[in-house]
Amino acid sequence: MPRLLRLALLVAVCTASLPLSAPVRAADCAGRLGTSRVMEVDPNGLEVGTKHFPQTLDLADREVVLTFDDGPLPATTPGVLKALSKECVRATFFVVGRNAAAHPDLVRREIAEGHTVGHHSMTHPMTLADMPYDKAIADIEKGLRADDRAAYGEAGVHPRVPFFRFPGFGSSPTLLDYMKQRGIGVFGADLWASDWNPMSPQEQLDLVMARLDHVGRGIILFHDTRGQTLKMLPDFFAALKEKGYRVVHIVPAPPRTAAAPAGN
Ligand SMILES: [Zn+2]
Repeated sequence: MPRLLRLALLVAVCTASLPLSAPVRAADCAGRLGTSRVMEVDPNGLEVGTKHFPQTLDLADREVVLTFDDGPLPATTPGVLKALSKECVRATFFVVGRNAAAHPDLVRREIAEGHTVGHHSMTHPMTLADMPYDKAIADIEKGLRADDRAAYGEAGVHPRVPFFRFPGFGSSPTLLDYMKQRGIGVFGADLWASDWNPMSPQEQLDLVMARLDHVGRGIILFHDTRGQTLKMLPDFFAALKEKGYRVVHIVPAPPRTAAAPAGN
């Protein structure tokens, strides 16, 4: 069989459940943790993550969504990307606008490697809910534009990926209303590694796996800015594989087209 055809077939087999537009290093995926499915998420009115809201994504038992906040940072984000790539795992990065503006190459790499890039404000105030409303909105909007400019070279009125996570989960009813009006989905989390607390990678692994085994599924929050998280990732992926967890990759559902009026 011609080499190119053989390669094309391998890519087709390995990417059957992934978006066709996303590049994949096909042959490497065999025997890896992998990404079990891609979930299209409608951002309109979306508020998910049981640590923040009453409901979460529609995940089956042992399905997890991996999210990384606060990057990108040159010291740690490339290592996180390498670890994800090694296991053919796709994740969502909630990037901080000022970091995205400073390191657009890393944001572009996240996208080129098939990950989803969502938003996490411009300056990461702790928290947006504790600021005057207008200043909070300005920080959110500045972040959306900075992220899209870094990622795609331009920023429109509507972010290309309308996914947002409030720093420190610090939202308020009026800020949540604003996001709803903007058609931007809000992500909390179902569990986390508490990786903002200094601990060894092994301690962090034990902690996050105990929490995951307890709830059995969910959106997991990490920080790609934390060296201890980077060091933990290979063992974390091995533990997920060993225990039969499956990684779900989230992408925004295509924008709704205006529906024709029904029946009249
Ligand atoms: Zn954060």
